[in-house]
Amino acid sequence: MKCIICGKREAVIHGQCEQCFLEHIQVTTKGSIELTICPKCDAFKLGNNWSRGKMEQQLSRKIAAHLESKEPNVSFEVENNSVVLRRIEGKIEFLFDIKTDEQKLEGNPLNIPSKILLNSCPTCNKISGSYYEAIIQLRTLTAEYSPIIDKVLSEISGMLQKMHNNDTDSFLSKIQPMKEGVDIYLGKKNDGIKFAKYIHDHYFSETTTTKKLAGRREGSDFYRYTYLVRLLNLNPGTIIRGKDKTFILEKINANSLTVIDPTNEKRYDILQNDFNSGSYSYSQENLESRKFIVVSTEGKESTIMDNENFKLYTVKGNYEGEIHALNYNGKYIVLSHQ
Ligand SMILES: [Zn+2]
Ligand SMILES: [Zn+2]
Repeated sequence: MKCIICGKREAVIHGQCEQCFLEHIQVTTKGSIELTICPKCDAFKLGNNWSRGKMEQQLSRKIAAHLESKEPNVSFEVENNSVVLRRIEGKIEFLFDIKTDEQKLEGNPLNIPSKILLNSCPTCNKISGSYYEAIIQLRTLTAEYSPIIDKVLSEISGMLQKMHNNDTDSFLSKIQPMKEGVDIYLGKKNDGIKFAKYIHDHYFSETTTTKKLAGRREGSDFYRYTYLVRLLNLNPGTIIRGKDKTFILEKINANSLTVIDPTNEKRYDILQNDFNSGSYSYSQENLESRKFIVVSTEGKESTIMDNENFKLYTVKGNYEGEIHALNYNGKYIVLSHQ
């Protein structure tokens, strides 16, 4: 069948040849597009909301909605990778397809008037403005600075770096060193909850949460949460006193302490909750630890010799070579991890 308009070429769409069809449907753009791009990150704002990633895809859909023609039974599809932003000229160039129920035709290149702005996004504003929603206060149980604070801080910083790559709202706003610890200011409220839980799950510690009204946001009260984390910073060999018993700290676990009853050298676990309830006290003095040479081992005991004065002692357990033993009132006890 020949084209109903020109009568020369073969009819391919709606009874017309391609040229005649494209000529008579007269695709035009209506209105204009306003696009804001954050120069610091890849965020963009199209309409009222900021978003990230797949800008061409969103832009194509938006442009397609601005296309119209005289022919009612067609739809338009803007090609994602054809979108070119011309900021200075104030337009966006693009290629598009015209779709009918019969087939798809490539339209002639078009452009739409556009206002393309460069503006820092809310997240980048937050980061540069020292914005924060939560604080983790790292301290120790004895209120003294200890290397365990640096260890936890470096773990949190590492985790935050990864989290920021997936969600830019997760960021470290500020690290405030203090005499007795460090305050970590977090950009996202939920990160405070996350890290407080992480520390609690991995370190023997006590957490106190406080909230403070920080203003109103989107019609409701906005609170800032502070997580005061006290990390246990006692060394193995510390004396821990229960109600009627004295123990020697052997090992710190995430949720319990392994302690030794020095009278019979039995091991016990003190659970974190029991310890935090205040039934135990500790002194900061560690028992004297000395180096010994194992002379012999037999049954469940070993004979050890003091490196300095060559005195011999008997300790529980089978050992060889050199060991360290703690002096508890003249009795020598070997901690198991040594
Ligand atoms: Zn024709
Ligand atoms: Zn940004």
